[in-house]
Parts: sequence; C-alpha cells; structure tokens
Amino acid sequence: MTDECDAVVVGSGPNGLAAAITLARAGCSVLVCEANATIGGGARSAELTLPGFLHDVCSAVHPLAAGSPFFKTLPLERVGLEWIQPGIPLAHPLDDGSAACLYRDVDLTAEQLPGDSRAYRWLMKSLARNWEKLANEFLQPMLHWPRHPIALARFGIPAICPTTFMAKSLFRHEPARVLFAGIAAHSFLPLEAAVSFAFALVLGIAGHAVGWPIPRGGSQQIANALAAYLHELGGQIQVNRRIENLDDLPKSRAILLDVSVWQFLRIAGERLPSRYRRRLESFRHAPGIFKIDYALNGPIPWKAEACRRAGTIHLGGSIDEIAAAERDVSRGKISERPFVLVAQQSLFDETRAPRGQHTLWAYCHVPFDCKIDMSERIESQIERFAPGFRDCILARHKMGAADLEKSNPNLAGGDINGGAANLTQLLARPVLSPTPYRTSLPSVYLCSASTPPGGGVHGMCGYHAARAALRDHFSVRKPA
Ligand SMILES: Cc1cc2nc3c(=O)[nH]c(=O)nc-3n(C[C@H](O)[C@H](O)[C@H](O)COP(=O)(O)OP(=O)(O)OC[C@H]3O[C@@H](n4cnc5c(N)ncnc54)[C@H](O)[C@@H]3O)c2cc1C
Repeated sequence: MTDECDAVVVGSGPNGLAAAITLARAGCSVLVCEANATIGGGARSAELTLPGFLHDVCSAVHPLAAGSPFFKTLPLERVGLEWIQPGIPLAHPLDDGSAACLYRDVDLTAEQLPGDSRAYRWLMKSLARNWEKLANEFLQPMLHWPRHPIALARFGIPAICPTTFMAKSLFRHEPARVLFAGIAAHSFLPLEAAVSFAFALVLGIAGHAVGWPIPRGGSQQIANALAAYLHELGGQIQVNRRIENLDDLPKSRAILLDVSVWQFLRIAGERLPSRYRRRLESFRHAPGIFKIDYALNGPIPWKAEACRRAGTIHLGGSIDEIAAAERDVSRGKISERPFVLVAQQSLFDETRAPRGQHTLWAYCHVPFDCKIDMSERIESQIERFAPGFRDCILARHKMGAADLEKSNPNLAGGDINGGAANLTQLLARPVLSPTPYRTSLPSVYLCSASTPPGGGVHGMCGYHAARAALRDHFSVRKPA
C-alpha cells in the first residue's frame, strides 16, 4: 500500500483528512503523507506553555466545523469528538463596562440590543432558520447553480456589501454595530471592503444555528476523530513525510494536495504550463497574525460580567476603532490598538488546565510576513477590558509569521487562510472555474483552504476536491 494506492493525499489538515475520508468511503485505497510529527494541521493542540496546560496551536472555536454539511455525515462523536457549547458564544466588551453578546437564541440577542432589536430580528431570524440550505450554498465554489435561490438572494444582497455601510445603515447604536464589526473582522478584509459583511452574516447565523463550540480536549480532537474514522475505512497516514516534489510520491491514480497555492507552485515545479502558473502566481496572500497562548493562575477579571461566561471575546472597542485597525493592517501598517480575538476554552473544558488555573488563546491581525512582536499591544487591549489581567499570567507562548510557517508550511507569512478572501479571490479560488480543485495536471487536485470555500475548519474544500477526483478517475458520480 505504501508503494501503490488509488489516491495519495499530501497533508493531514482538516481538508486533507476530509478528502481522504471521501475517497476511502467510495472504496479507494488512500495514503495521507503528513510533514509534521503530529496530524491535524490547523486543528492541533499541545502543551505550549507549562505542563498540564493544553493549548490550541491554531483553530480554537468551531462554528464551521459544527455546521459543516460534510462533517455532519460522519460519525465523529462515535470516534471521540465531543462539542462543548459555552454559555454565551461571543461577547464584545465596550469601554463603559457593558458587552454586546451573540447568544444562541436570535430573540435573546435582539433583546440585548435596545433600539436595534427589530432590525436584528429582521436581518438574522430567517437566515438562521435557513442555515442548512445556506451552508450548502456558500460552502462550495461561488460558480454554481443555486439549489436555494431565494434563501441565497436574501443572504447574498447584504453579504456583498461593506460592513461599515451595512452596520451603520441598519443599526443605530454601538452594541449592534460592534457585534457585526468584530465578526466581520474574521475576514481579514478592511471593514469598508465589499463582501466583508458576508463573514459577519455567515459566522453570526452559524452562532444561532449551531453555536460557536469548542471540542473537549482541544482542537486536536477534531483531527483525531477524522483520522480514527479514516483508519476504520482502511486509510493510512504517514507522519514525518514532507513532500517537496510530486516525484516523491508513491504511484497512484489521483493526488490531492492539502497545501497552499504557493507551496503547490514549488512542489509541482516546472510541470505547470506557464498560463496556469501565471494565474496561480497572481493569487494574493491575506494579512498575517501574531498569536499568544497564556497559562493563567485564574480566570480573566473581565469588567463585563457577560465576558466571564463567553467562549470567544472580541476586543477592539467601537466600530470605528476596529475599522481603523483593520484598515491599517490592509495598508501594511501595525495598529497601535489592534483588534484582538480571544478564546477562553478552559472556562468550559476542565481538560485544558490544572484545577483553578486557565488557558487563554489570543491573536491579532498584522501585515503579511510581519516580524514585529505584538505582545505588548495585545496585552494592553486585554487589560483595557480586564484590569489586572497581567497579574494572572504564569507563562506565555508567542507565534509570529516565522514560527507559524515553521509549524506548518501552509502558514507562510502568517497567512492562516490560504490566501486573501476578497471578492475576486472568493470567485476565483485559486482560479475561476466551477471545479477550481482541478489543476492543469490531470491527476493532481488542490484541496486546501486555497480552494473554495476557503479558510476555517470545515473540511468542505477536501470533500469537494475528492468528489472531483472520484468523478474524473474512479467513475464515482455520487459518493456516500
Ligand atoms: C492561529 C490560527 C487560528 C485559527 N483559528 C481558527 C478557528 O478558531 N476556527 C476555524 O474554523 N479556523 C481557524 N483557523 C483556520 C484553520 O485552522 C484553517 O483554515 C484550516 O486548518 C485549513 O485546513 P487545511 O486542511 O486546508 O490546511 P492545514 O490545516 O494547514 O493543514 C495542512 C497540513 O498539510 C501539511 N503539509 C503542508 N505541506 C506539506 C508538504 N509539503 N508535505 C506534507 N505535508 C504537508 C501541514 O503540516 C498540515 O498538517 C485558524 C488558523 C490558525 C493558524
């Protein structure tokens, strides 16, 4: 099997494992080659700071995994995955000590936004009810024939707009505006950019429909559950096997690459025809991140009580402040008051830290390939909303662009999403095609976050890429 198999998958990230499972379920023999000693790519956990403190190396919070149409078809709970839903999925503290919150319930969320309750219900209620239909529509290439055109139009018209425009024209007060601004900032786009509001809508309605859950035992458990199911199906995984060239691979009928566009350009070498190569070379990176994991001697002393019950916290103050921070980053500048994403998993999962102590996961956006240490700025933002935070710190683990790339070659320059998610690159990811997973090499497919629907732990890039390979090489039209 290690010398010859039906399909080889390079990379054991969520998309690589999803591709391998889709192929194995269709009866193919599959080998996954992983560069790292540990499987999982963006879904890994490790004791980064002190013994007994389990940190999520990359992904922490998983609305897209919980709402993934593909993951839903897999018996992941049976093979060890357990979702924990924090009491409040998301809180966004303000300087006056209050916080805007996204609750599971649309009405409860709306009620906490006085003056904007009706607008919130009007925007979110029917979208949240239609999550399943919508998820199938937007978690695939944009170039497709919609199966739910009415639901998609209801989503698509606001989604294409800039966040600053939508938030300020729909809502009159700061709490509703900042709630959407903070979620939209997950896009890495300036809030004035077209389609930035799509991210606020997708993650917002996911919060209502499936929550923003965390896996018990860390994000590694998602990868472990996918790998356990792949093994049940007969698939094999080899770790510590980095592929530098397509010639390094065992013979197979199909090759699926869970690698970024830039790695693909290197791995495929001179085999790519110049026209296709040029199209890939014009694909653009997203900005990068600077991440810190903390071991803490107790819970964070948030001023806003709601933050003490929330899984995820968005730190950035007002909508104008968040917009300014993201604008700076998109112009290649460091923001003095960056927008900071925080997750406090150990409040809800006792496996993450020794009793009474806690972990904290935090990152901010920085320009691509930034070398600057952002710890001071991140800690000032946390301290602003949780005075006394610095006194809780037992240990820190920092990751800038170079560390991220060292831990996973897909994260070069600190870009965690496999390329910018602007309008052009949502349409052409990495090329404009209804099946952009196909490359110019007949048996080689891209299946990473550089393909639709893009970044996040959902496995949908891998699933769609494997379906294309099954159609092209194994005459399987409708896999299980
Ligand atoms: C710090 C950080 C925080 C994040 N937070 C979240 C979050 O909270 N929620 C969320 O949904 N998403 C989050 N993400 C994004 C998410 O992790 C990624 O979008 C997702 O993991 C992409 O999956 P993938 O399978 O395409 O690639 P990856 O997860 O990058 O996996 C690729 C795998 O391929 C391996 N590989 C690469 N090149 C080679 C090679 N040449 N040979 C062999 N193996 C190779 C890598 O080692 C890796 O294991 C975060 C990412 C980061 C980095």
